[in-house]
Amino acid sequence: MITTTHPHNARCLDLFKKLSEYIDQELDAATCRQIEQHVKNCPPCQACLETLKTTAGLCHRIEEAPVPTGLSDRLKKMINELTV
Ligand SMILES: [Zn+2]
Repeated sequence: MITTTHPHNARCLDLFKKLSEYIDQELDAATCRQIEQHVKNCPPCQACLETLKTTAGLCHRIEEAPVPTGLSDRLKKMINELTV
């Protein structure tokens, strides 16, 4: 998960904002790819996304896996804390 030692930059924060939409199943395929592009070159985000994927069953199972209640809320809260 995200820790305070994560070297967040603007792109990472942007990504995390998109991740919450990702979890809400609001992203199109292009944005999904954008995220994957960033994550490929950003190990901290990669670790974060892996955690989210195991938690929510993103991308590959997006249609059959209902989002766990409260997960996107938790993520949004996390983003808020990061941007303070
Ligand atoms: Zn990143």
